[in-house]
Amino acid sequence: MRGRMLHIGKDGHLVSQNYGVHGECINSVDRAKLNEDLITAAEALSNVKVTFNHALRKADLDKGILELENKNTKEIIKAEADLIIGCDGAYSSVRNSLMRYVRMDFEQGYIPHGYCELSIPPKIGTNGKQEFAMDPEHLHIWPRHKFMMIALPNPDKSFTVTLFMPFANFEKIHNEKDLLEFFETYFADAIPLMGKDLLIKEYFKNPKGSLVMIKANPYHYKDRCIILGDAAHSMVPFYGQGMNCGFEDVRILDSLFSEFDVKATVQGDSDKSLQRALQAYTDRRAKDLKAICELALLNYTEMRHGVTSPTYLMRKKVESWLHLLVPTKVIPLYTMVSFSNRPYSEAYARHKAQGFWLGAAGTTVGLGAAVGLALAGWKERRHLKDMAELLKVSFLTVVQSAMKLIQ
Ligand SMILES: Cc1cc2nc3c(=O)[nH]c(=O)nc-3n(C[C@H](O)[C@H](O)[C@H](O)COP(=O)(O)OP(=O)(O)OC[C@H]3O[C@@H](n4cnc5c(N)ncnc54)[C@H](O)[C@@H]3O)c2cc1C
Repeated sequence: MRGRMLHIGKDGHLVSQNYGVHGECINSVDRAKLNEDLITAAEALSNVKVTFNHALRKADLDKGILELENKNTKEIIKAEADLIIGCDGAYSSVRNSLMRYVRMDFEQGYIPHGYCELSIPPKIGTNGKQEFAMDPEHLHIWPRHKFMMIALPNPDKSFTVTLFMPFANFEKIHNEKDLLEFFETYFADAIPLMGKDLLIKEYFKNPKGSLVMIKANPYHYKDRCIILGDAAHSMVPFYGQGMNCGFEDVRILDSLFSEFDVKATVQGDSDKSLQRALQAYTDRRAKDLKAICELALLNYTEMRHGVTSPTYLMRKKVESWLHLLVPTKVIPLYTMVSFSNRPYSEAYARHKAQGFWLGAAGTTVGLGAAVGLALAGWKERRHLKDMAELLKVSFLTVVQSAMKLIQ
């Protein structure tokens, strides 16, 4: 998807906003299929054994002994591990065990908004074949300020639609009439795409999920245990980075194993290299995980509200122009987060530094344009050239001062 497609107002007027100035794209990936492919790839390795349907109940991190319960037979089995890597999600049992061994700072919170998954099926094209019902090269957003709906394309030409809104709003929808009235008021253009029957069926059948945020620190215990992915950092899904960040955890841990020369075989009772690598992971990763959790939350305001505000649009335009003009000096936040391996904390700090001057440049251009248009109304035509010159000079002055500060 090369950008967002905004569905504005009742008639769903379409506005496209590209993600990057060089045609950068994000991918819509089926998570269940990705999980299956990853498990298949892991199973192909000779030293990997996969065991399904066993839940961790207890972990002795010093001894490296795990107690797992067979979910079908309830039988408890024991497993031994030199290093326990906990990737067991937001409600991690490994993290619960880890908390008993280290002084973990831990924060968990829910936003008042929840989500419900719906869908837009493929439409039948003029040639009788199935087609996407909307442009598949965009992430579709219906921004409605306090809530929003989004749609992402799937390989089978359907769209997965997610309605994000406060639980208080979900609770006001009791029956089919309430639902259709709500959709006709806010998402009228989506109704024919979804089909009333499917909308009603999915809305009342599908669960209303909550959105949890979890921050933890440290992520490891000696050379015995580490938590990665949502177990260490659960964020709201609005930057599309939750799973990406989990993959980045793995990349960074792997690079630290190389940096600290960690060997695959156990180095005595206590593996100092491994311990140093895990300590470095906690030390270096904490600020980035904190940053992406905050950015993810900020992006919700941007997606449901900001994308329609003139100030936001002005800033985006100015930022894109400056990025084209001086690509290494001004980089849009989305580009830094989604299209580079720049650490999240660095991207966030740089975005804040750029913010003031982009705001100043945007305001100057906006004010200049407004004044120019007003004056142009009563001045003679020959003054328009001077006005354009004035605008150009004021814009360049602000840009130059911004550049100096960024340097
Ligand atoms: C609505 C929504 C949209 C999202 N969109 C995006 C997106 O666009 N892009 C993106 O990058 N991320 C997105 N995410 C986030 C993404 O889904 C998560 O970040 C990702 O799934 C985390 O992966 P994980 O492996 O750490 O944890 P999980 O996917 O939660 O996997 C944890 C695994 O551990 C298992 N487990 C749990 N407890 C135990 C136990 N006691 N014993 C044994 N096993 C256990 C679970 O069964 C599960 O298999 C979204 C999330 C939501 C809710």
